[in-house]
Amino acid sequence: MTTPAATTPFSDRLPAPVRDETAQVARLLGELQGRVDWSAVIATGTPWVDAVRRQPAPFWAMESLLREYPISSAEGLALMRLAEALLRVPDTETALALTADQLGRADFSSHGQDGQPHPMLSGLASQAIHLSKKLLPEDGEDMHGGGLLQRLGAKTVVAATVRAIQLLGRQFVLGQSIAEALTRADANRREHALIRHSFDMLGEGARTDADALHYGRAYADAIRAIAAKGRPARPEDGDGISIKLSALDARYEPAQFATVTERLMPRLLDLVNAAAAANINLTIDAEESERLELSLAVLDLLAAHVAATYPQWQGLGLAVQAYQTRAPEVIDEVTAIARRHGLRFMVRLVKGAYWDGEIKRAQELGLAGYPVWTDKRHTDLSYLACAQRLLAAPEIYPQFATHNAGTIAAILEMAKAAHPQGTPFELQRLHGMGEGIYREVMRRPDAPPLRIYAPVGEHRDLLAYLVRRLLENGANSSFVHQLADEAVTPQMLLASPLRAPSRSVLPMPLQLFGAARANSKGVDLAAERERLPLLAALGVPLPAAPTEASVEGAAAAMDALHAAQRGWNATPLAERCAVLLRAGEALERRTGEFAGLLAQEGGKTLGDAVAEIREAVDFCRYYAEQAAARLAPQALPGPTGEKNALRLHGRGVFVCISPWNFPLAIFAGQVVAALVAGNTVAAKPAEQTPRTAQRFVELLHGAGLPRAALTLVCGPGETVGAALVAHRRCAGVCFTGSTPVAKAINRTLAQSDGPIVPLIAETGGLNAMLVDSSALPEQVVDAVVQSAFRSAGQRCSALRLLCLHDSVADKVLEMVAGAMAELVCGDPADAAQSWAVDVGPVIDAEAHAGLSRHIARLEREARLIARTPLPARLTGTHIAPVAFELKSIGELREELFGPVLHVVRWRGAVDALVDEVNALGYGLTLGVHTRIDDRAVRIAERARVGNVYVNRNMIGAVVGVQPFGGEGMSGTGPKAGGPHYLYRFCGEQTVTVNTAAAGGNAALLAGGGQ
Ligand SMILES: Cc1cc2nc3c(=O)[nH]c(=O)nc-3n(C[C@H](O)[C@H](O)[C@H](O)COP(=O)(O)OP(=O)(O)OC[C@H]3O[C@@H](n4cnc5c(N)ncnc54)[C@H](O)[C@@H]3O)c2cc1C
Repeated sequence: MTTPAATTPFSDRLPAPVRDETAQVARLLGELQGRVDWSAVIATGTPWVDAVRRQPAPFWAMESLLREYPISSAEGLALMRLAEALLRVPDTETALALTADQLGRADFSSHGQDGQPHPMLSGLASQAIHLSKKLLPEDGEDMHGGGLLQRLGAKTVVAATVRAIQLLGRQFVLGQSIAEALTRADANRREHALIRHSFDMLGEGARTDADALHYGRAYADAIRAIAAKGRPARPEDGDGISIKLSALDARYEPAQFATVTERLMPRLLDLVNAAAAANINLTIDAEESERLELSLAVLDLLAAHVAATYPQWQGLGLAVQAYQTRAPEVIDEVTAIARRHGLRFMVRLVKGAYWDGEIKRAQELGLAGYPVWTDKRHTDLSYLACAQRLLAAPEIYPQFATHNAGTIAAILEMAKAAHPQGTPFELQRLHGMGEGIYREVMRRPDAPPLRIYAPVGEHRDLLAYLVRRLLENGANSSFVHQLADEAVTPQMLLASPLRAPSRSVLPMPLQLFGAARANSKGVDLAAERERLPLLAALGVPLPAAPTEASVEGAAAAMDALHAAQRGWNATPLAERCAVLLRAGEALERRTGEFAGLLAQEGGKTLGDAVAEIREAVDFCRYYAEQAAARLAPQALPGPTGEKNALRLHGRGVFVCISPWNFPLAIFAGQVVAALVAGNTVAAKPAEQTPRTAQRFVELLHGAGLPRAALTLVCGPGETVGAALVAHRRCAGVCFTGSTPVAKAINRTLAQSDGPIVPLIAETGGLNAMLVDSSALPEQVVDAVVQSAFRSAGQRCSALRLLCLHDSVADKVLEMVAGAMAELVCGDPADAAQSWAVDVGPVIDAEAHAGLSRHIARLEREARLIARTPLPARLTGTHIAPVAFELKSIGELREELFGPVLHVVRWRGAVDALVDEVNALGYGLTLGVHTRIDDRAVRIAERARVGNVYVNRNMIGAVVGVQPFGGEGMSGTGPKAGGPHYLYRFCGEQTVTVNTAAAGGNAALLAGGGQ
């Protein structure tokens, strides 16, 4: 079989995701004008709602559970969080600690409908809580020290909780195998002949190719099993399958389009061929918005294949999310693809399951707006507008997936109005959800077929994923949640979405920090229109490097800066702040140009380059904001007849010495902080990256900074840097780099006979990540790979030491190895490959040699876990990401700046592990992965580090959000990008004026002593 070639380049088919929401909603309203009679919708839907409330769905149905224990309640949340994690925990100690932690937060015994505890949950769980509160040991205590009775009691609690969760699992999962699921499907069909299923062998997306192959086999087996039940006359008549492309390829990402065509397509074609041969429905699930264009490209390739090989098959399908602002255009594009290839598609219209994730991503990336609607009613409206399009397209068999009674009733009305003689379509619901409403809907004589989306697989593998998805449906705004809440009347529940657009209450991503400071603008690399200008900038040749200064030149610069400092310090604070703000604006406008510089001079990937530019912009805005708020003179209280004021001023000439790993962000952060405080600055960039520094200095001067206030002094640290620090006019040093150099600077400053000069040092770290067995391995692997290997491991914050709980270490390491094999090493400065590159070169030959020596030693002394393959064509200073297992933490001796990960296993008390990490003497960043909330808090309190990250990666600190900097051998503080930073650049003066000196206290006398 041949894979269809990706003849058309992968390019934007859809409009930009971020558009004016009000205007778009107005457009959709116009399209629906006169098409939906909402009073008829209310008339249809109200009896359903009433009936469901009179006769609730079965006990374990999602809506019943939500009624009993809403997710907004401590009990609901505890239950969900246990369901998410407990079954995967292999060791008793952690299972006990997790149960105690979560159940201890809830009170099932007094909670429930009408104040009545739920018979089953309170029977199991509330008993468990009481037991757990009494019997479970505190985290970190020796589990084996307690009495036998205590331990037995505690284990019973856990066993009972596990049983409760397994029961809950049955609600989320139709069968633990496809055979079991098919049997239950038959039982469903016996209840109603119009019921069909779409099975999904889902779980977490694949992180490794082994995972992807495993999912591929599971899908293929499922198709075979469905086919064995008999061939339906039409795909819509029988059961089918849903597949997630991110499960079939660990790199199902737009940046990896080549891999998608070479590796995913053949796998996909196998499944499509099997589904076509069996004449069943195969639907591609909808995932995150950055994959939307990619999914359309894949659909187009698939359609070409189907048209050539199975033109009569009408079962190929795609899910479309109505919450996407581009949903109507997606429908148009899908219809156009079907028409072009002469096919009919089955299109499942959903609202969308990743709304909060989409909002978070847009905020994190600093996008101009959101790719999804920000008001729930807009999503509902968009759903109807999309439905209208689907019902009008003969190339589409519409499948309406929703649990919302209003939406269902509207669809029935719209279908009847569009096609009074009847039109083929079906409704869909998730297994375990919407049972009550659909019980009523399916009683209608004109009820269309109903397809149940049915997850299949072992509870242990599926629950984490399903719970996260179901929490979305349990959100306060969701229909299922509101149906369970008797306080919400049927009128409220069935309120029309056909009304004027409302203003979002969500701040736009760029207004995340309120009125005081704009968030830096990011780039959505998944959008071609935003990506291409950056790639074009890679073709611009690097400028000549600035001339290096001599030692004498450095000294002369210091004298000149000293002479200029008084004048700059006298510049009004508002003007100093304005310079920073103008610089931030200019830098943001020149993102493409600086990204090109960073990729070429610093070896940065596009994503890292954009993130670094944003950080520099944030520094400019944040320090301007902080300076305005904190550095202005303050009046102080005192006795009458006296005026007291505190004033801050620049200390003099600050020497700012920055590293090559953040040649823009750290350089800019140091320099603008020192400047805004009233200092003049000698800025010495790293020898490897002077051009980026020079361009930023020019930008600052262009923004109105007097030339005399800032001088770029390039040259080697040992000579030029040392001369600057030792100069008698040096009034402060701000340094980021290695601990030995920081110490050398400190010694130089200490030897000076002049005033005692402050040193702000940010140095390295031996950063650890502690993972217990309650953590989700997929999340851990994502965090490990990003933290250890992004930026080729050349971040101060990068993960160096992964501490895995013994009970999960083998599994996690296998997955880490698989994920490392998926990394793409390459040259980010090469426009042809740049977007796809995950790991670029290390900074220079010297770094390469040092890392190679260290790796050679590890090869002798430690166990190799995995090494990313390095393409032979790479000629630069590339080091393949590599991971080694050490026997103990003590074997880790020095900080190493590159893509080298060390791993140790741990067991026993977590406090002892934290102490061992503390004993390394560094204290920069720490990652923690656990579902035991108390444990995370406890670790953070005990760890002597500057930045703790829980259940996420441990890099990419954001200015003003995660102020950055460590303690111990990792730095002096204060934290960069934090509220205490600027003070360290200032001298302070109080001025006390005796206002009664000339006799008489006018103010006091006028006030009469009041
Ligand atoms: C058969 C089936 C298959 C599915 N397949 C997929 C799939 O492939 N991909 C996928 O993403 N989802 C899929 N889903 C999940 C589906 O998206 C959810 O079930 C859906 O979100 C719930 O919609 P509802 O109409 O039942 O509920 P409703 O409560 O009416 O709507 C909930 C929707 O509103 C959105 N929302 C909540 N707050 C806001 C807000 N402030 N602004 C804007 N929107 C908001 C939610 O994100 C959600 O999309 C599928 C569902 C079914 C039934």
